[in-house]
Amino acid sequence: MRRIVRAFLSLEQHLRSIVSTPQSYRPSHCPHCGFGGLWAHGFYGRKADRSSGARLNPVPVARFCCQSCGRTCSRLPLCICPRRWYAWALQQLVLSLMLFGLSLRSTAKVTGLSRNTVRRWWRWLRERTPVFAFLLRSRFPELGRTTDTMSFWQACLACMPLCMAMAWLDLDDLSVP
Ligand SMILES: [Zn+2]
Repeated sequence: MRRIVRAFLSLEQHLRSIVSTPQSYRPSHCPHCGFGGLWAHGFYGRKADRSSGARLNPVPVARFCCQSCGRTCSRLPLCICPRRWYAWALQQLVLSLMLFGLSLRSTAKVTGLSRNTVRRWWRWLRERTPVFAFLLRSRFPELGRTTDTMSFWQACLACMPLCMAMAWLDLDDLSVP
């Protein structure tokens, strides 16, 4: 829901920008009422560093307050997935393996995830593909007229990482993981 800023692919980039160019996170409009004037409203801390030391946690996320309706919203960089704990790169790996025909069992084994998680992500991708593909194709005609899930995502992930595709869908007001 317009929560993602289409920049800052790594946590290190995000941590630098949130100090040096905090204005790059400010939304142009309030996501609740559409008003055009939002004030910076501090930060909240989020566990976003999944590396073994997790030394970057808690990662600050910028918050904004609407001068009209008084509600707050926050903006995430590309490197933080809004609603899943796992990193985008791992999700992209899992989905790519499935797209290339690996079995659910092998994908779970290779990635160290449970079969339930792999099954849930895969089902989500297949169920959402008609809507996602329609919107992404209207923005990127080069994604072509591929009709099935496999060829669409192979074309899409060859053009952009999963996090960027999701950020474009977020801009179209879809709820992304
Ligand atoms: Zn508002």
